[in-house]
Amino acid sequence: MFWLWATLYVLFFFQISAIFTTVYLHRAATHKALTLNPVVELLMRAELWLYTGIVTREWVAVHRKHHHFTDVPGDPHSPYIEGLWEIIIGNPWYYKREAGHKETIERYAKDIPRRWYDRLFLDNGLLGIVLGLGLTMGFVRWLNPGHAWWYAPALGLGLYLAQGILYILANALINGACHALGYKNFSNTATNLRWVAWLSAGEGLHNNHHQFPSAGKLSMRKTEVDLGWPVIRLLRKLSLAQVKPLPEAAIARQSAEIGQIPELAAEEVTS
Ligand SMILES: [Zn+2]
Ligand SMILES: [Zn+2]
Repeated sequence: MFWLWATLYVLFFFQISAIFTTVYLHRAATHKALTLNPVVELLMRAELWLYTGIVTREWVAVHRKHHHFTDVPGDPHSPYIEGLWEIIIGNPWYYKREAGHKETIERYAKDIPRRWYDRLFLDNGLLGIVLGLGLTMGFVRWLNPGHAWWYAPALGLGLYLAQGILYILANALINGACHALGYKNFSNTATNLRWVAWLSAGEGLHNNHHQFPSAGKLSMRKTEVDLGWPVIRLLRKLSLAQVKPLPEAAIARQSAEIGQIPELAAEEVTS
């Protein structure tokens, strides 16, 4: 029983963070493919703050710089420049290195507002991590009352680290493997890896994304699964998100020009 709820807790928060990262941090905040209802946005931000410690302005700036200098000098995390294993293992370090450059944040995240709750709470990633860790320990204690005093802190730390490591690994695979391994629909330096897309709510379809960064939907082929897209569609249905129209004409034209997506169907890009 213990392993069941422990595994569910880890997988749940890993996947929730992955979905909120792609929907909020990546597609909404960075590329403006959609606008979220402010309450939904704040909930996503709070979860990411507690379980990843990510600061929105930093993530947005580092990622925009990655698009600006993709796989050329200046890219914060390119496997072509640093090496594939260096990115897969050291991705958090490369991210932190770039996020620490004040001029990167000032140049690439000008439009991200800094409100009072950012200054007080959300800009402090370490505070988020400490609180998230405390919540996890509290959850273990609530589920298992009556154990020795060390049980909840030790187990809570283990669960929190496990979900964090899975999240870090998924992001490292996107920044590393999805620029080096896998297949391409379009001629840019990024690649698609279907299994990474399953782990990361669609982010593994990175070749598609680099071709159409402002598209809210990352899948192009019928066999490509973007779990972030149904979430966005649901939010749109509930009037909690406004989604920018997909660049259907450009997608169809480029697909035809390249001739690499023969099965690309009209409903795939218009849904
Ligand atoms: Zn990339
Ligand atoms: Zn992007």
